[in-house]
Amino acid sequence: MDPKKMKMPELLAPAGSYEKLVTAIHYGADAVYLGGKQFSLRARAGNFDQAGIRRAVAYAHENDVRVYITINIFAHNQDLDNLRDYLCFLRDAGVDGLIISDPGILLIARETVPELEIHLSTQANVTNEASARFWVSQGVTRLNLARELGLDEINQIRQATDTELEVFFHGALCISYSGRCMLSNYFTGRDANQGDCSQPCRYSYKLVEEKRPGQYFPVVEDERGTYIFNSRDLCLLQRLPDLMAIGVDSLKIEGRMKSMGYVGAIVRLYRAALDWLGDQVAAGKAITSCTLPVYFSKELAKIGTRGWTENFIEGPPKSGDMQYDSSRTQQSWAPVGLVCTASPLLIEARNVLETGDQIEYLGKNMETIIVSVTSMTNEAGDQVERANPGNKVIIDTDPFLPSPEKGSIFRKKLR
Ligand code: SF4
Repeated sequence: MDPKKMKMPELLAPAGSYEKLVTAIHYGADAVYLGGKQFSLRARAGNFDQAGIRRAVAYAHENDVRVYITINIFAHNQDLDNLRDYLCFLRDAGVDGLIISDPGILLIARETVPELEIHLSTQANVTNEASARFWVSQGVTRLNLARELGLDEINQIRQATDTELEVFFHGALCISYSGRCMLSNYFTGRDANQGDCSQPCRYSYKLVEEKRPGQYFPVVEDERGTYIFNSRDLCLLQRLPDLMAIGVDSLKIEGRMKSMGYVGAIVRLYRAALDWLGDQVAAGKAITSCTLPVYFSKELAKIGTRGWTENFIEGPPKSGDMQYDSSRTQQSWAPVGLVCTASPLLIEARNVLETGDQIEYLGKNMETIIVSVTSMTNEAGDQVERANPGNKVIIDTDPFLPSPEKGSIFRKKLR
């Protein structure tokens, strides 16, 4: 392959709300995925109603960004009511593809809206090339591969099919097989396979012997208890060159439940990383010999995480890929404001912001500018020393920010 003609993979971002969709697009997503009120996992992600889907598609298409809709529940008969109407609505709304895991929903989609692309959800567990060929024979136009695959296996599937391949490469992991899990149902009655997981894999567990009820033995000796099912988060930042060399078509970020600040920071990071790699290739460098500069890892460290793992990419995960001592997200920086207008610099606070705070402006392309807040004026025109989440304030900064962009994020270090 001529290295200068290597196809760049699509950067596919989660859009759990309209604001997150706008933020993902602002920071450079090529495509977004979102769920409707029906038929979608992530029931608590603030999914889109029909007017919201139309609005999302219109905004995305204005910005040359594609929109995929999740219809990825494991359906029971009663779940199929109104499915055909919903599919026709999605076609008429102009969505670019459907993300499906259930073969029955796939069948009905092909019968009802054959013109729409069908992406097979990771929940369908494509782990081998024969499975990939099977789903392609059923009309699937893109395969989101199972998360339990190594680079060699992804490459073997690439060799077996020309169909588009999508890989989850960043975000939270389930300890169950590609999300097939009943833990939540047993503990809380909330069904993970209907999009309502209560995440009991993140709970702290102890051991009880049958004849000693009420005596709780620690499974790991640690005063904070143990989190035996708590996986670290997936991060394949350093594997981007390998995935590009294989010819993966789309790189998917997990996180429709994550915050606007998280989505913006992650999309920004990966947009810049992919563009940097693209520039290297365009300059004639072999993709496999590219190593991302260290500033990408430094930026990654500022984004909340339960710790990182590359999961199965070099073989089955080991104990170090779990996080036993805590299930809390470690976060040293937090988004503190969103730019509403550039001049005057009006921001909506997303965390407590005080006069004198040092904050970072997250521009596109990894541009990061550190400024101090020298004064704040609230919407009534009064000078204030503090803005609480939700407050809108005009801020003055030192140094002066020459060209902040609407939709950009400010963040600050947590104490
Ligand atoms: S309980 Fe944990 S492993 Fe099971 S579906 Fe929910 S997040 Fe995944």
